Amino acid sequence: MFPDYQIGDVVRLRKPHPCGGYEWKIIRLGADIGLECLTCQRRVMLSRRDLAHRMKAFVKRAQDEVPSS
Ligand SMILES: [Zn+2]
Repeated sequence: MFPDYQIGDVVRLRKPHPCGGYEWKIIRLGADIGLECLTCQRRVMLSRRDLAHRMKAFVKRAQDEVPSS
């Protein structure tokens, strides 16, 4: 199964962008996932399959607060 991505999640990829950055923010969800490089702000689109293969870990989840009750 693919991870449950959300807009605003930050992910770390296995290989660095040419700019040297590893971390990307998810900016668009659909058949393809839009990612923005946190280092150079360049945007790319990846299929869910490609992202699942290239992603190493979540750095930050958009909704990571613990339920309060
Ligand atoms: Zn970059």
